[in-house]
Amino acid sequence: MIGGSIAGCAAAVAGSRAGADVTVYERSEAELQDRGFGIVIPPGLHAELLGSGYLDAAMPTAPVGTRVWLTRQPGGRSVRELARQRSPVTPCNWGLLWRSLRASVGAVRYLRGQPVTSVGRDGAGRAVITTARSEEPYDVVVGADGHASATRRLLAPGLRPEPAPYAVWRGAIPLGAPAGRPRELELLRDAWVTLGFPGGHGIFYLIPGGPRDGDGSTGPGNRLLAYAIYGRPPEGAEPGPYVHELAREHFPAAWADIVARGGRRA
Ligand SMILES: Cc1cc2nc3c(=O)[nH]c(=O)nc-3n(C[C@H](O)[C@H](O)[C@H](O)COP(=O)(O)OP(=O)(O)OC[C@H]3O[C@@H](n4cnc5c(N)ncnc54)[C@H](O)[C@@H]3O)c2cc1C
Repeated sequence: MIGGSIAGCAAAVAGSRAGADVTVYERSEAELQDRGFGIVIPPGLHAELLGSGYLDAAMPTAPVGTRVWLTRQPGGRSVRELARQRSPVTPCNWGLLWRSLRASVGAVRYLRGQPVTSVGRDGAGRAVITTARSEEPYDVVVGADGHASATRRLLAPGLRPEPAPYAVWRGAIPLGAPAGRPRELELLRDAWVTLGFPGGHGIFYLIPGGPRDGDGSTGPGNRLLAYAIYGRPPEGAEPGPYVHELAREHFPAAWADIVARGGRRA
């Protein structure tokens, strides 16, 4: 497996279950748990991943069953509920999800800090993976090396992936941060929230906190408020200030305030 993130770990579990002798090459030296914030998966998929043993039942999730659509009161900055629909989702913490998959990979060789520099072929037609430290032959190579995949470039040199015409701005803030917003937090205990604006939308939901968040527990008392804003920043615009300004202009004041408290581009 080239890449030891979500896809690489899941493929490593599948490969070793099928009886293969699996090696994972991961470029990054560090643990990957801080790479993402919230990741929302459908409850059916979550159940399947639990049932098949890819995820551990002890991995905390923050499931909710309702989607609430909010907007601003016309002419004001207070909130107005537009619609409410049944929409079950299973929000997860990206880092905890990766850790759980990583644990399921078990005893396979997982080589951290080892970027693959090339994939070639030996005289017997086997794939040869080269890193700065080794050159090893394999029967099967799986490219799980992300959006800028070098494996894809190798296998399909003519393929030119095009970025989607929007950017995602993600944030996750401790529940203590919007402490003056009890109504918003109360709503998020049972629902995930969508707010639209011209050309995009934002979603807000609670996710389980990790061991370094809140009280460090895996229980419902340890939550982060996660959000993702999908928009189209004008050419050359700094995404951070753009998203904060956009929220100020289009979101009800309480939700713009949440966006103003943190963020990171994805
Ligand atoms: C429709 C959609 C919805 C999404 N929703 C969410 C969401 O809700 N939350 C969220 O967090 N993300 C979301 N994402 C993003 C996606 O979940 C993350 O990007 C996820 O991490 C992808 O996993 P991956 O294993 O495919 O790739 P990556 O996580 O990018 O991992 C690739 C790995 O390969 C390694 N690598 C790269 N090159 C080499 C090399 N040469 N040698 C060795 N290793 C290498 C990298 O270090 C990296 O660890 C979404 C994506 C899509 C398409």
